[in-house]
Amino acid sequence: MNGGPAMRRVISRLAVLLLSPVWGSLLACGGKIAFVSDGTSDYTIVLPKDATPAERRAAEELRTFLAQMSGASLPIVSEDRMPAAHRIFLGLGDSSRVLLRDLLQGPLGPEEFLLATKGQDLFVVGGRPRGTLYGVYALLEDQLGCRWYTREVSCIPKRSSVVLPRLRRCEAPAFEYREPFFAEAFDGDWAVRNRVNGMHAELDSSRGGKVVHFPFVHSFYQLVPPEKYFHEHPEYFTMVGGQRRGDHAQLCLTNPDVVRIATQQVCHWIEENPEIQVVSVSQNDWAGFCECEPCTQVNEAEGSPAGTLLRFVNAIADSVAKRYPWVRIETLAYTWSEKPPRYVKARPNVIVRLCHMSPACNVHSLYRNCPENRAYIEHLREWRNHAERIWVWEYTTDFKAYLMPFPNLDAVLHDPKFYRGHGVTGLFYEGSYPPGGGGEMAELRAWVLAKLLWNPNRDGRKLVHEFIRGVYGPAGKCVQEYVDLLHEQLGSSKLHLHLFAELEPDLLCPELLERADNLFRRARRAASGDSALLARVELAWLPVLYARLEMARRGYPGYLRGEEFARAAAEFVRIAKEHGIRRIRESGEAGNVERFIETLDFVGNPMRRCWVIGPFEIPHWPGLPIPFPPESGFDSAAVYTGTGGQAIRWQKWEASRSSYLDFVELFEPDTLGVAYAFARLWSPADTLVRFGLGSNDGVRAWVNGQVVHEKPIQRTALPNEDVFEVRLRKGWNEILVKVDQAGRSWGLYLSVDDLDGVFRWDWFP
Ligand SMILES: [Zn+2]
Ligand SMILES: [Zn+2]
Ligand SMILES: [Zn+2]
Repeated sequence: MNGGPAMRRVISRLAVLLLSPVWGSLLACGGKIAFVSDGTSDYTIVLPKDATPAERRAAEELRTFLAQMSGASLPIVSEDRMPAAHRIFLGLGDSSRVLLRDLLQGPLGPEEFLLATKGQDLFVVGGRPRGTLYGVYALLEDQLGCRWYTREVSCIPKRSSVVLPRLRRCEAPAFEYREPFFAEAFDGDWAVRNRVNGMHAELDSSRGGKVVHFPFVHSFYQLVPPEKYFHEHPEYFTMVGGQRRGDHAQLCLTNPDVVRIATQQVCHWIEENPEIQVVSVSQNDWAGFCECEPCTQVNEAEGSPAGTLLRFVNAIADSVAKRYPWVRIETLAYTWSEKPPRYVKARPNVIVRLCHMSPACNVHSLYRNCPENRAYIEHLREWRNHAERIWVWEYTTDFKAYLMPFPNLDAVLHDPKFYRGHGVTGLFYEGSYPPGGGGEMAELRAWVLAKLLWNPNRDGRKLVHEFIRGVYGPAGKCVQEYVDLLHEQLGSSKLHLHLFAELEPDLLCPELLERADNLFRRARRAASGDSALLARVELAWLPVLYARLEMARRGYPGYLRGEEFARAAAEFVRIAKEHGIRRIRESGEAGNVERFIETLDFVGNPMRRCWVIGPFEIPHWPGLPIPFPPESGFDSAAVYTGTGGQAIRWQKWEASRSSYLDFVELFEPDTLGVAYAFARLWSPADTLVRFGLGSNDGVRAWVNGQVVHEKPIQRTALPNEDVFEVRLRKGWNEILVKVDQAGRSWGLYLSVDDLDGVFRWDWFP
């Protein structure tokens, strides 16, 4: 409960922060002060009488790191017992306030600090709760060369004397909300030392606290639970295709009862937990906004489903503003709500969190204006006319493959500045976040982002070099070469990669991966003798191993085979286990590393030729239970009735480079329906063999008329996500696969385990 009023001040001062002199001058005006000389110091750290836990930690941290640097241990005293000279004042107490009165014009923001020397004294003072603590870290980092790269690797330079120039530096972060969302960034010490303040880091009050959300995101069902209301009041939930739905639904946002219930719930949360600063009132993580008549009317007038959403959020925000003026209401502008409305504007206590989801290029900087990003950039510009406070949800890993080499440094290094220039005040970078961590270059991205979220004008490339030198030491040269090589390959491939990108043979070609592998062999030699360094180098190598194995498993030619495959697989398993990696993708059972390891020996021969037919009409998802004529026998000449009464027939399909069978490219409409693929598979013998299958969305498969696999599910497709055994007979077998579509992507991967290359897919026997 104690945090309440302090937290309220944080929020009420957020506005101040944005107006304050953000990049204060750094003046070195003649003369220097030696705080430590030859390992001894006559300086004292002075705290305010009413020092906060964060200010006390600031003093402890300063003492600790000065001691690590120089061996000198400075005493910490309260201002009522301070000496007459040689003082380091931390925090604004009665004495520092008086001594600084000519320098401090107004109050300092909650994260703002002033570093100043005066006479022989040093002042590190900041607004509460975090300003002074951040000031100490800025002093240690920027003036004295300390770095906290990762949880394990810090750099605290040894120096027998600690000398500072004359200082007068006032600074606040460029973004009020800074969250690199990686498992590696949740550690409280790492987070506070790198001055990030997001919800998921372990930032207790001694670390200055953080921006406290509740709930964090996708809160519609928490606001109006369907298990409580749907039975009695289906009208509270979305109408889609003429029907009210409770499952995988959103809310009917124009229903006044829904507004009332949601408002009560929000107020209840705040009453229960006075530390809450931001309440998320945001759509569930799937499609399907309400199509009832009142909702449709508003959305049509507003030109976007964000119309009903923002009006709904505003109504809640108005009630909250009266009772809890320090709380903000946050909503998402995400997929169907990304496009801003025409008229309605967000209330001043509303945060719009714009998500860079789809379509999007998530590897190139927004400055490059990739075609995939143009609509998003346009939406960002328009949202500025509809909301005072825009935070952005960025994506900075591949969510289908956390271990895939994902060359997105162009975006990482430049987009914070782009966002700052577009008036964005908070940045969340979603990376690989599950416990265990270990995502590709996760620690590098987390650290570089922390620096750029504080000051996006810094030279990002230099930060990357510095991190690699600091963390990989003598192996750093090879790691840097690898990073450069990968990014050059992205450039020459002309690819634009999305956050759900697949492993691309044009990017991760056999030659590139072999060169990368050689670089890491050199890096490992350079690291030999230092087991901790070797472990870090191997973790950086893991994505290269993963890509080499996975490309082979997907049946691309030119990758590892036989002995080489087995050796790489063994290395992969060892390193993944040593580092405690648990997840290799965001969702699904196939994301468990154990599951991946179990099926690592599956080397696929993908279905590259088949017949396809669709779309068959379904009233709503799921479509698996509804039978259509292809299930009663294959007839290549048959004509059936498809969605909207169109005549549909079997067509031949042949894979290009990727073996992904993309129904969205083939069928219209592609938002809801059922499709079938039919292929013939030649087997050299009667045999039991494994199939690998990935589908979007639900799937049922038949072999020679028998159902062999069924999964009613909504998911993105991943090759070999489901691995199951089937019995094939010698000669030709008939394979039929049914895939339903709940929305967005729609497609299929199918392959047979075929290390020896004896099976054959074709249209005809
Ligand atoms: Zn409605
Ligand atoms: Zn691009
Ligand atoms: Zn889908």
